[in-house]
Amino acid sequence: MEQPPIAETPNPCLTCGACCAFFRCSFYWRETEEGGGTVPDQLTENLTEHRKVMRGTDARNPRCIALIGDIGDRVYCAIYDRRSTTCRVFIPSWEKGEPNPDCDRARAAHGLPPLTPSDWESPTESPDSTSTTPPDTVLPAA
Ligand code: SF4
Ligand code: SF4
Repeated sequence: MEQPPIAETPNPCLTCGACCAFFRCSFYWRETEEGGGTVPDQLTENLTEHRKVMRGTDARNPRCIALIGDIGDRVYCAIYDRRSTTCRVFIPSWEKGEPNPDCDRARAAHGLPPLTPSDWESPTESPDSTSTTPPDTVLPAA
């Protein structure tokens, strides 16, 4: 899920958050502060000898401890700038021009329809607007 800076293009992740409460978000331990990385240690747990997991995501009903807000309404990642590569490489459906079945699956699990290309289009573009810059995105999987 995503918490971009200011974006002219709509970002459907900010009204979703489903993947942060669906997948186990694990990553190599060196991505944590303890390992010289950025992910806050206190928000992680040991998964294996060499892998960490975001607290809350290794559960029957997962929800990342860093996910703030209400899924399907308004959400953001409390550690957006420090999130793991697992989160960074997760591409929402149609942000890059193609669907992501994992994004669709997470949304479906939370009662949300799959994204469509139109979800990335600004509804009120001015006639002379040339902005087509999509926001960058994220999310977990393990
Ligand atoms: S990547 Fe998909 S499932 Fe995750 S927050 Fe964005 S729209 Fe929702
Ligand atoms: S750390 Fe990753 S899984 Fe957790 S809220 Fe942020 S983007 Fe979602």
